Amino acid sequence: MKKYWSRKASSLSPYTAGEQPKIKNLIKLNTNENAYPPSPNVFSAIEAAGAHLRKYPLLAMDALAEAAARAGGLAPENIFCSNGSDEALALCFLAFFDPGKPVLTMDVTYSFYPVWAKLFDITMQILPLNDDFTVPLQEMTGARGGVVLANPNAPTGIALSAGEVEKIVRQNDCVVIVDEAYFGFGAQSVLSLVKKYNNLAVVRTLSKSHSLAGLRVGYVAANPNLISALLAVRDSFNSYPVGTLAQAGGAAALADEAYYKANNEKIIKTREYTADALKAMGAEVLPSAANFIFARPPVPAEKVFKKLREKGIVVRWFNKERISGYLRVSIGTMEEMECFIGEMKRILNG
Ligand code: PMP
Repeated sequence: MKKYWSRKASSLSPYTAGEQPKIKNLIKLNTNENAYPPSPNVFSAIEAAGAHLRKYPLLAMDALAEAAARAGGLAPENIFCSNGSDEALALCFLAFFDPGKPVLTMDVTYSFYPVWAKLFDITMQILPLNDDFTVPLQEMTGARGGVVLANPNAPTGIALSAGEVEKIVRQNDCVVIVDEAYFGFGAQSVLSLVKKYNNLAVVRTLSKSHSLAGLRVGYVAANPNLISALLAVRDSFNSYPVGTLAQAGGAAALADEAYYKANNEKIIKTREYTADALKAMGAEVLPSAANFIFARPPVPAEKVFKKLREKGIVVRWFNKERISGYLRVSIGTMEEMECFIGEMKRILNG
């Protein structure tokens, strides 16, 4: 089967993404896409940028970097742009972490982190979350090789305060990656702290808060020294990771904060409504600062997952220790969530 594969390729255990179903009229609540479309300005910017497609994309990505920097009162020199934040995270692992120096992370967090660690021969020091899935803050100190922390965490949705994250950055003499993939849904951010700490790298994506999962735009905010390490790694792999259309669309999205703020406020309201409805059905729902909720139904989660799928509602169930009793449900429009809640009631009563 693996004839001609490199030893590295043969050794990998790749990340499994949530299903992208081909059937059209499903209610898709499994990959935390934003419930609403991108800003109309994104489409006009992409159309205008089409005129430049004959040429390679701009290397400095000025407009995108400037738009990303603005949110944290930063400069374009603080920003490294990438083809989605998965790429940014992978390049951070290469640029900041070394084999033989364990990188601190959690047992329940984004399951791509151990995949990159394996790809780059980095070992991880895995800290179990508390019973309530909160981070054991007193143990987040003295990491040798680095720290990687999703805030809010995925798939739990639980967020640390900016002060708590700052303490982690202060207490570790190595690079702390804070993955803010789910910024914009109520969690506090440490974006502006990159001016203060030379070991902080904040990674963000436009896939969730800015409705652009299909365009693939992510970025890292950090001090210029860390940005230089990322550029060295990037330019040893692929100098043009963000295409002309993605740069233009991403910049236009970041410039239309009012549009996204209104949508994301609706998502937060729908999230709380859905959480309350699930709690009323006897489910345990973790407090979420993201565009999804993590809930433990009063009957086996796998069964509920399958029954929902039969009815055309796709959520995420992880067959993993500690979390196999839970479902991760992305927050869709109110209409979609009413369908989900109705179906949940039928499943739990029948
Ligand atoms: N970090 C976390 C915690 C995520 O859940 C995701 C989405 N799967 C990402 C990063 C990557 O998102 P993207 O590559 O779409 O930017």
